[in-house]
Amino acid sequence: MYGQIFKEQPFDFTKHSTIGCGGVAKQAFYPKNEEETRFLLDKQPNGWVAVGNMSNVLPSDDGTDKTVICTKKLTEIQPSEDTVYVSAGVTSGALLRFMRDEGYGGAEFLAGIPCTVGGILYMNGGAGGKYIAELVDRVRIVRGGEILNLPANECEYFYKNSVFMRTNDFILGGNLRLKKAKKEDIEKSIKSWLDKRAHLPKGKSMGCVFKNPAGYSAGELIEKTGLKGLRIGGAKVSELHANFILNDKNATAREITSLIAIIKNAVYAQYGILLEEEIRYLK
Ligand SMILES: Cc1cc2nc3c(=O)[nH]c(=O)nc-3n(C[C@H](O)[C@H](O)[C@H](O)COP(=O)(O)OP(=O)(O)OC[C@H]3O[C@@H](n4cnc5c(N)ncnc54)[C@H](O)[C@@H]3O)c2cc1C
Repeated sequence: MYGQIFKEQPFDFTKHSTIGCGGVAKQAFYPKNEEETRFLLDKQPNGWVAVGNMSNVLPSDDGTDKTVICTKKLTEIQPSEDTVYVSAGVTSGALLRFMRDEGYGGAEFLAGIPCTVGGILYMNGGAGGKYIAELVDRVRIVRGGEILNLPANECEYFYKNSVFMRTNDFILGGNLRLKKAKKEDIEKSIKSWLDKRAHLPKGKSMGCVFKNPAGYSAGELIEKTGLKGLRIGGAKVSELHANFILNDKNATAREITSLIAIIKNAVYAQYGILLEEEIRYLK
């Protein structure tokens, strides 16, 4: 049986996204378990879009006709013999607390990434050369109304890319290969990952806007074209890290998109390299 499913009407992207812009979706649902999720996915005449913490999405100023399915109430963490099942809505902070309290290591590089596990499994996110794909044993999804456990080798993981970008799968969670470790070591490792991020810009952003082209740093290429600090309306290229666009004065998605186009043109004109967005457009 289904309990009452929490619904938000409308769902305002400016309040929910880390970049703080965009229009609204007419409605969002927050399923608490797999049955509720599967039920909801099947019932949306205009389609659906899954969101976690909305930290890597640029929502359109026009909002969306789709129903938002937010994973934040899917919060199960279940250790088994050789893996730990982590539901899509578990945040990096909650997973790291579990790891520290229960003595599991391996995913400390997630410290400071403002993600949910569903979002990072979709994006194949990571830090310092480590990516979530390295820990994935299988990903549990809803595909065409069926629940499947997709083995890692079918997730088509490569740099900031996954099969989920090319399918319409809803990620319910993933089995991660975390290893038993000493609590002090885990704590130390989390702290050192957090220290490495201390220089990153603060404020409303989506993190890195562009992927690093093979052999280059997107941030360095943008910096060398002299675009640090460039502003359009309320959006500007961070002075600290040129791969970050900040919304510091009620920027619209259109202003951010214009800035993205200027950056791509300038880097292409100077280096012949076409930058590819890491962020996902939500419309
Ligand atoms: C300050 C800052 C620092 C950051 N640093 C890093 C970093 O170091 N490394 C890094 O990799 N990223 C970084 N990011 C980007 C971002 O945090 C990651 O990409 C993260 O994985 C996104 O997770 P999310 O839960 O916010 O996903 P969302 O932004 O909500 O979603 C991202 C995409 O995944 C899809 N999606 C989300 N959940 C599901 C689901 N359950 N099923 C199907 N599709 C789903 C969405 O539709 C969307 O297309 C940073 C962002 C910010 C704002």
